[in-house]
Amino acid sequence: MVHFVGAGPGAVDLITVRGQQLIREADVILYAGSLVNPALLKEAKKSCDIYNTATMTLDEVLAVMERSEAEGKRIVRLHTGDPSIYGAIREQMDALDRRNIPYEVCPGVSSFCGAAAAIKAEYTLPEVSQTVIITRAEGRTAVPEREQLASLASHGATMVLFLSAGLLQQVKEELLAGGYEPDTPCAIVYKATWPEERIVKGVLNELPKMAENAGIRKTALILVGDFLGDEYALSRLYAPDFTTEYRHAVSSDAERL
Ligand code: SAH
Repeated sequence: MVHFVGAGPGAVDLITVRGQQLIREADVILYAGSLVNPALLKEAKKSCDIYNTATMTLDEVLAVMERSEAEGKRIVRLHTGDPSIYGAIREQMDALDRRNIPYEVCPGVSSFCGAAAAIKAEYTLPEVSQTVIITRAEGRTAVPEREQLASLASHGATMVLFLSAGLLQQVKEELLAGGYEPDTPCAIVYKATWPEERIVKGVLNELPKMAENAGIRKTALILVGDFLGDEYALSRLYAPDFTTEYRHAVSSDAERL
């Protein structure tokens, strides 16, 4: 059995309880060494075989899984954040299906949640944005034409850019072309939840300069949108005149009392 496990955004205590238990029980761990905090591996058994997949190809990863499965071992494939976001797990799952090797997925705290916590922000503010667009700039991996940044920008929604910290001139131009104002608030969150976490705040027009001045080129998320600003409406859920399944509205009489 292969367990795909989300390692969380970096801090060792932000893996799930289930994920940590799977690491403790594993006979073999394959971890994405470029981003997974190696301190998580301290929980592994002494006898556990540990592979850093940063230097391996997909075929080499699969060969380890196949051999370990044949030996009846418990296998953990540790991915950064949550495996469903830019995790390249689909190709592994399909290859395991072809080999009749069973697998399960244990979710993790994605770095975009870690970044929001780091800057103490809420992505979905009433009357500001009720939508979070998770995307990336086009680099060596192509982005489908209909998802080009300029067209996504036309929504003016909250945007989180993964894998784009080295492409900020291009990001700025496309987001401006798509309709964000030059003074739209932005944040760069480097290594959210790691001890070396850094946060740089500014506006869209300054985005490439902000990263350059801070010397940030990778392992960062770019957050864009008015959710970083000061204006928003209060949530209806906690409004006194709003009835929910759990709470009756305070009547206007009662409110006056
Ligand atoms: N599955 C991961 C993302 C993997 S793609 C997740 O859910 O977070 C790798 C990209 O994620 C990096 O280039 C960077 O943009 C972002 N990233 C991962 N960990 C990060 C962290 N702790 N802080 C900021 N960005 C991070």
